[in-house]
Amino acid sequence: MTTFDYDLFVIGGGSGGVRAARIAAGEHGARVGLAEEDRMGGTCVIRGCVPKKLMVFASSYRTAMAEARAYGWSVEADGFDWTAFRGKLDAELDRLEAVYRSGLATAGVSVHDGRATVEDAHTVRLAGGETVTAKHILIATGGRPFLPPPAVAAGALSSNDIFRLEQLPKSVLIVGGGFIACEFACILNGMGVEVSQYYRGEQILRGFDGEARGHVAEAMRDQGIDLHVGTDVTAMEPAGEGTRVADTNGRERVFEKVIYATGRVPNTDGLGLERVGVKLGRRGEIVVDEWSQTSVPSIYAVGDVTDHINLTPVAIREGHAFADTVFGARPTKMDHDLVPSAVFTRPELGTVGMTEEAASEAGPVEIYEASFRPMQSAFAGRAERAMMKLVVCAKTRRVLGCHIVAPQAGEMIQLAAIPIKMGATKEDFDRTVAVHPVMSEELVTMRKPVRTA
Ligand code: NDP
Repeated sequence: MTTFDYDLFVIGGGSGGVRAARIAAGEHGARVGLAEEDRMGGTCVIRGCVPKKLMVFASSYRTAMAEARAYGWSVEADGFDWTAFRGKLDAELDRLEAVYRSGLATAGVSVHDGRATVEDAHTVRLAGGETVTAKHILIATGGRPFLPPPAVAAGALSSNDIFRLEQLPKSVLIVGGGFIACEFACILNGMGVEVSQYYRGEQILRGFDGEARGHVAEAMRDQGIDLHVGTDVTAMEPAGEGTRVADTNGRERVFEKVIYATGRVPNTDGLGLERVGVKLGRRGEIVVDEWSQTSVPSIYAVGDVTDHINLTPVAIREGHAFADTVFGARPTKMDHDLVPSAVFTRPELGTVGMTEEAASEAGPVEIYEASFRPMQSAFAGRAERAMMKLVVCAKTRRVLGCHIVAPQAGEMIQLAAIPIKMGATKEDFDRTVAVHPVMSEELVTMRKPVRTA
């Protein structure tokens, strides 16, 4: 019988890899090694969700202070101190990285700091050149920002660079209309940066509910973001301390910094995967089956490197399911249906299930909707509107989708996702008594459809 150095070797210490390693070792007693070439915690903890959300909080105080004045407080805002914030942010990320490391140590996982590549179906080569063998290999190397080559040549920044800025620029152009572009447009605007955003398509946030997209775009413009849709960059060149940008509408403008948020690509380059026969897709993603198994039976992959649903909680679930299946004798498949998500714009967009557009293609639907000025901001004289929408199947009465644009929509959608995942009908929502006065009471008080489709 072949003996391996490890039962499992994980390449990548992000959300998916760390969860798989900890469950395999800590709960199922497997001998586990893990290699990470960068900081432990991966995109989510080091250059994604966590620092981004802290920046969302930081950026929200400008409006909060203006609102406080409207409520009778004397508040003097003295400007935002990026250096002070960044120092605290760095310290928090150090703390979280240490928590990740100690979690792995407690579970008994051997950590190798450095890059690892796949040598054959059971062998991994570590940064120092030595090889280790493992019965199973898990690839959890995540993704990285994709920038078109001319943008790289012109020195455009990616989302990774924003967290490392020495100082906040006076003006930025953000290119892209997805999660990252819209979130950073709102964050930087909140921190006092002049923000312009160019998106090549008709409306930002492609793939989300049409009305919700329009609602977010309007709110972004209302707070001063200079958002241009149907606009792309045609040329960039250095201009003094900034970059001169020409666009498809014939304009030329100078921005201190240009940030590209034009999608992410799976991190599979140079891992040795093709050599051992692991099948990759068109974008370089690892092709896996419903058990996260690749075309090489001993090699598995979870998270963004599979380019499935690129969200931290999905990677965590996939990593956990893999560990339970392979080491816990508990075959578990990740359920990718009805995954809720939130875009942390201001206001936030929370969504679960089908958009009106997708649902009405599939069959007759009823649309229930409320659009209103939330009490808190309306009292302060702000025009901001919130939107709640339920997409209901006209035949089964099931709520197929819920879309919320409102402050704290991320918190609300997490809870709305539970009944929707359970198969709740519109009548189940109606039977639920409202909590008053809160914004989300609208979800259970929308009596008549605004339209059928
Ligand atoms: P997205 O795929 O969401 O958006 C990419 C954007 O860039 C789209 O608007 C796309 O336009 C545009 N684009 C792509 N290529 C080009 C190009 N060559 N020139 C101009 N524009 C281009 O990617 P993000 O980078 O924003 O985010 C990556 C993923 O990370 C998300 O899909 C999400 O899964 C995850 N994420 C989740 C967050 C959350 O949960 N809150 C936060 C941040 C990221 P078009 O629409 O025309 O293709």
